[in-house]
Amino acid sequence: MLTVNAYAAPSATEPLVPATIERRDVGPRDILIEIRYAGICHSDIHTVRGEWGAVAYPLTVGHEIVGVVAEVGAAVTKHALGDRVGVGCMVNSCRECANCLAGEEQYCLNGNVGTYAAVDRDGTITQGGYSTHIVVDEDFVLRVPESIPYEAAAPLLCAGITTYSPLRHWKAGPGSKVAVVGLGGLGHMAVKLAHAMGAEVTVLSQSLSKADDGRRMGADHYFATSDPATFQTLKNSFDLIINTVSAVIDLDAYLRLLALDGTMVNVGAPPEALPLHVFTLFGNRRSFAGSGIGGIRETQEMLDFCAEHGLACDIEVIAPDQINEAYARLEKSDVRYRFVLDMARI
Ligand SMILES: [Zn+2]
Ligand SMILES: [Zn+2]
Repeated sequence: MLTVNAYAAPSATEPLVPATIERRDVGPRDILIEIRYAGICHSDIHTVRGEWGAVAYPLTVGHEIVGVVAEVGAAVTKHALGDRVGVGCMVNSCRECANCLAGEEQYCLNGNVGTYAAVDRDGTITQGGYSTHIVVDEDFVLRVPESIPYEAAAPLLCAGITTYSPLRHWKAGPGSKVAVVGLGGLGHMAVKLAHAMGAEVTVLSQSLSKADDGRRMGADHYFATSDPATFQTLKNSFDLIINTVSAVIDLDAYLRLLALDGTMVNVGAPPEALPLHVFTLFGNRRSFAGSGIGGIRETQEMLDFCAEHGLACDIEVIAPDQINEAYARLEKSDVRYRFVLDMARI
């Protein structure tokens, strides 16, 4: 066992504090990663506060991890000492079910093993990336291309793949009209990726306060959802709407913005149920869908796509002792556009 420094939540209601956690010995197919940067995702906050279900404490979260390979197991073939690597939202899956065999490990029928707060194959509870080191099976470790700065690559491992996967699945590209609801950690990546794929991109944000940023990221149009006229102007407009908002919204109002055969995909995950009138779906044969992260193969494809198109996340790098302050700011959407922890400063 390796004892490493980390930040952990002692309970659902207390601030995160410095702690040590145990990492398993490096097995034959394992990789020890010296973590350089870890992004802060809204899911981290929901999880440590127990809002998505009961979890065991103390708990270290963080699933946007980049670092350097510090040790490899005897049977490792995919990564070598010193490689730039990343780990996202999952660290294992059954590898045998139909979904795993299809390369969609995130939808493993036996449940993928989340990077934190999940029961690992050895029965221990997984602990995430707000720490100096992590041990992960090589199959769940991604290559981080040289051209993407480490710190700006970290959030791609969740925010990047979570938006890339539905954009690819619903075929965003030249000739398609994509709307992104919310310009936060997920939304700003959705805009950059959809623009790079060649789609015409519209941001639907509460106000116009981030409109300049949105246009710089590649948005062609920017509308305020606080203005009722927006929902009239944009009726029947979009082929795809990516909803990144983790709160209850008026789904019917957004669905009516879809053109014929359009789909609205939720990647934001509000804890509450969302009401929806089925009649809204009848019009224009609309679909309402969800999408969760992406498979390992697709996550690698996303990282390579970002390198090819010069894309990365807009970030604010902070020291680990600023985590609690960052959580408070994130809850007020006061971040442009992702906090990233510099783990060298732990
Ligand atoms: Zn996340
Ligand atoms: Zn499986």
